[in-house]
Amino acid sequence: MNKVIIFCAPSGSGKTTIVKHLLKKDDRLMFSVSACTRAMRQGEENGKDYYFLSRDEFALKVRNGEFLEYEEVYGGNFYGTLKSEIERIWAMGKVVLFDVDVVGGLNIKNYYGDQALAVFVKPPDVATLEMRLRHRSTETEETLRIRVDKAVHELSYESKFEKTLLNDKLELALTKAEQLVNEFIAR
Ligand code: ADP
Ligand code: 5GP
Repeated sequence: MNKVIIFCAPSGSGKTTIVKHLLKKDDRLMFSVSACTRAMRQGEENGKDYYFLSRDEFALKVRNGEFLEYEEVYGGNFYGTLKSEIERIWAMGKVVLFDVDVVGGLNIKNYYGDQALAVFVKPPDVATLEMRLRHRSTETEETLRIRVDKAVHELSYESKFEKTLLNDKLELALTKAEQLVNEFIAR
């Protein structure tokens, strides 16, 4: 059976860190590269971290029905999962790994049902999440505030997920993430 694994969390919870670790450890998995309209960050690569699109290019793909789901995640910036990405990964016999926001993750889970595992990555508390975002040094004071405010709201979605992964001590969280993946693939 073709499978997908979705890691969802408020920004700053550590899902990108966890997903990158899993991709390095487990070659059964392949990352679903989303499309987005935000500016590329230092160190990011087009086609690897995201397909970086202009607003017009993104809108055209929406009109053409190329997205499984898409959302305006942060003020003015669109993010979405391309159907072609999932087909590409399944054609290689791999399990698709997603790093998406909470609403997008639930939409993907609803769509794939038992073929999907949806994991909510939870920070110890909001203060820790804010500190991690500050240390990441990718945000201005304004975008940081927007992300933290959204995080507070998103933390209330935890109960909608079948699994929660607490990301307090990173090593423990990484081991737990590996276990969740192994159990789901074996099921
Ligand atoms: P997300 O993808 O959920 O926005 P990131 O993976 O980018 O989160 O993590 C946010 C920041 O917190 C990064 O700088 C990352 O290195 C750091 N981080 C992730 N997990 C932990 C942890 N368990 N303890 C301390 N710092 C962490
Ligand atoms: P960032 O700008 O930090 O890379 O991502 C912002 C948020 O958008 C994160 O919560 C990330 O998981 C989410 N995101 C990334 N790709 C997608 C996607 O394809 N769909 C949805 N719904 N959210 C996404």
